[in-house]
Amino acid sequence: MTTAVFARLRAGATLTVLLAMGAIPRAAAAQTPWSDRLAIAEKHKVAALTERRFTHTQFWRAIPTALKSPRLTVKEVGKSMQGRELRTVTFGKGPVKVFMWSQMHGNEATATMALADIFAFLASSEPSTLRDRIENDLTVTFLPMLNPDGAEIFQRENAAGIDINRDVRRLATPEGRTLKAVRDAIVPDYAFNLHDQNARTRAGNGEGAAIALLPPAADSAKSYNAVRTRARLMAAWLATDFNHVVKGRIAKYDDTFNARAFGDAMQAWGASTVLIESGALPGDPQKMKLRTYNAAAMLGILEAIAMKTFEQADPRAYESLPFNRGGAYDLLIIGGTVVTPAGVTREDVAINFDDSVARTSGRLVEMGDLEGVIALDTLDLSGKFLHVAPLTGLTRAGKYWLPIGTPARFTVRETEKPTSKLVRRLP
Ligand SMILES: [Zn+2]
Repeated sequence: MTTAVFARLRAGATLTVLLAMGAIPRAAAAQTPWSDRLAIAEKHKVAALTERRFTHTQFWRAIPTALKSPRLTVKEVGKSMQGRELRTVTFGKGPVKVFMWSQMHGNEATATMALADIFAFLASSEPSTLRDRIENDLTVTFLPMLNPDGAEIFQRENAAGIDINRDVRRLATPEGRTLKAVRDAIVPDYAFNLHDQNARTRAGNGEGAAIALLPPAADSAKSYNAVRTRARLMAAWLATDFNHVVKGRIAKYDDTFNARAFGDAMQAWGASTVLIESGALPGDPQKMKLRTYNAAAMLGILEAIAMKTFEQADPRAYESLPFNRGGAYDLLIIGGTVVTPAGVTREDVAINFDDSVARTSGRLVEMGDLEGVIALDTLDLSGKFLHVAPLTGLTRAGKYWLPIGTPARFTVRETEKPTSKLVRRLP
């Protein structure tokens, strides 16, 4: 053995000893990058869930393979008012307890789809550092589709018409009682309350909000105790993570304390809690993109909790987000002149879609001088003529009205003459 080799060996041995003693900090292991997590979410996307509207039966039938995995523990924890089983899915053997529930509002299914994809990934046998970290350091309890009776007819409330997220004090609903009971059984350190929000909500004065985040207040003073301070760091971490795909479309949710809401109570009970709201994205009518972004971000924040990396997040990444802003119309058509059997009128036209996510079935909501009116999209038809389609509007005793609520169907032409050059059709 030459002296040089011996010296290298000795140096290596010394380094090993120092590392073992903790004298030299290990190079911090990096978190799984967004692109890798997105690829995981795409790969494990549950194929049977193709639309954002699905029932309890369809959901549980979509993920049979994942549920058979020895890595996942499925447990019935209650029943909905109409008797549908409420189930938790638990993963991991770590000391840190995380609780994620989705779809307590029956028509808010994006995160439920993401959870299905996450189950498929967690159950898979492919080697994954990401999964190992979550498995070893966390015990994660998921409660997907807390409101299956609402989901059955795609409504917000449960079968009794109650908003479960306003039932935390009274616990009048079996779904609310189940949520509370699971919380009490786990005593989570971290919690995630997963929702969808109105697709007409914008990030401040900007684009439509794709994601809104909230570390709910635990008291009316909205104070930042240690629990909520951690939640804000989680929200900041998530905001930075979502910036990979929806930058400029992320908002803060109103953080006024609501004593009737579960997220606020969860925070008060000591779990650092974050509300994640999925809004809408142009060109994503079934929220399949948002579903995948949700799955990628949820896996990321779980890993960040396991590695404690979220503690390094900058709270300003959350604080600097614009607030959610509602009240926007879906589409504003400015500059045009409307031609009906009753006459020719210079008027701007605002339209809301019956399905505001898919942006289909538009109806007139306001007409006239709409300067300053806010919409998610604006179409400038200055100098053009909007001819109402035949059989659109109301005709009675030979008189014609164009009432609010009329389906928005126009042919756009160069002049008021119905034979003039066609510019386009709407829709
Ligand atoms: Zn909701």
